[in-house]
Amino acid sequence: MPESGIRRIFELVASVKDPINLSIGQAHFDVPDAIAEVACDAIRSGFNRYTVTQGLPELNDAVMRRMDDLYGYEADASLITSGVSGGLLLGFMALLDPGDEVLIPDPYFTMYAVLAGMCGATLKTFDHYPGTPLTEALLEASITDRTRVLLVNTPSNPTGRTLTVEEMTAVNNVARRHDLFVVSDEIYDAFVYDGPHVSAGGRIDSERLLLLGGFSKTYGVPGWRLGWALGPDDLIDAMRRFQQFTFVCAPAPFQKAALAALGTDMSKEIGEYRGKRDRILDGIADHYECSSPGGSFYMWPQLPHGVSSDVYMDAALKRRLLVVPGKTFSARDTHLRLSFAADDSVLDRGIEALCGIADELAG
Ligand code: PMP
Repeated sequence: MPESGIRRIFELVASVKDPINLSIGQAHFDVPDAIAEVACDAIRSGFNRYTVTQGLPELNDAVMRRMDDLYGYEADASLITSGVSGGLLLGFMALLDPGDEVLIPDPYFTMYAVLAGMCGATLKTFDHYPGTPLTEALLEASITDRTRVLLVNTPSNPTGRTLTVEEMTAVNNVARRHDLFVVSDEIYDAFVYDGPHVSAGGRIDSERLLLLGGFSKTYGVPGWRLGWALGPDDLIDAMRRFQQFTFVCAPAPFQKAALAALGTDMSKEIGEYRGKRDRILDGIADHYECSSPGGSFYMWPQLPHGVSSDVYMDAALKRRLLVVPGKTFSARDTHLRLSFAADDSVLDRGIEALCGIADELAG
C-alpha cells in the first residue's frame, strides 16, 4: 500500500514555518453557523446512535430531489456514504472482480488507482490532459474485453477540467457499445465557473451509471465524512450490503446537519472562487503555461521547461511554497497542482513565489 502523496504534503505543512499553502484539497471557508448548530443540537439531543445503513430516509429523499432539480436525473436508488471516498470503495467492491479493468483519466485523483488495486482490478488510463479532447476514439483505444468500469471526474481533481456535453455523450456511447458501467465522481459539482455543470446524471444511461457526490467541498465539512451514491437498485443494494460490514452507516448527527446543508445557499462562499481562479491565472500567465480550469479549485500549470518536479519542489520549499507535484496524479512528471482554495493574501504571496521560482529556474 503506497503512502498518499497528498498526505505527505500535509505533513510538510506542519514542518514549514508560515507556509504559502497552495496544496489544500478543501474549501477555505468553514461551514455556515446555522448548519453547525443543527449538528450540535443533534449531538446534544442524543442523536448519536447508528442510523439505518442506507442513511436517513429524509436525507436520501433530499439528495434524490437535489439531483432531479439540478440535472433532471431520476435515479432508482440512493445511499448515504462516508464521504465520496466511502462511495468509491463500496462502488468498486460491488462492480469489480479480480482481473477486471477500470479505465480512468490521467491525471486522476490517486484514490481511484489504490481502490481499484484493492479490488484486484487493473488500471488503464486515457490521456485527459487539458487540450486533449475526450473522444470515442480516445476511449476505444484503451478498452479491452476485460474493461468493466469507465470512470470520469468532472470537475476534475487535479486539473479543474470540466467535461462538455459532447464529451459526456462520447462516454455514454462507448459505455453502451461495450456494456460498461460509468462511475462519475462529481464532488466538485458546485464549483463551476464558465457555465452550468454537465452532470452524468440524465446524460449517461441510468442503468449503467453510478453517480457519486458529497458535502465535503460544497459546505466546508470534509471532516464530517458524508457523501451520496445514486444508481440502479441492484447496484445500490449491493453497496448497502458492503456498507453494513464496513462503515455500518455515515455519521448520524452529521446526517441531520446534511439535511439542513442541502437547503442552504452557498453561492456567496463559492462565488468567490471564480475571482480566485482568475487572480492566480492572471498572476502567473507570463511565467507558466496553464489552461483555465472550468471548475473545482485546482489548476494544472506546466513545470518550467525541462525542470523535474523534484528540482521544482526543492526551489518551492526554499520559498515556503507548498504545491503538489503532478506526478502524484499522473504517469507524467510535467505539471504541478495548485489549489486556489485560500485567502487572496495567500494567493498573492503564492503568485510572487511561483513567478520567482520560474525566473530562478530559467536563469
Ligand atoms: N473525489 C475527488 C475528486 C476528491 O478530490 C475527493 C477529496 N479530495 C474525494 C473524492 C473524496 O472526498 P470525500 O471522501 O471527503 O467526500
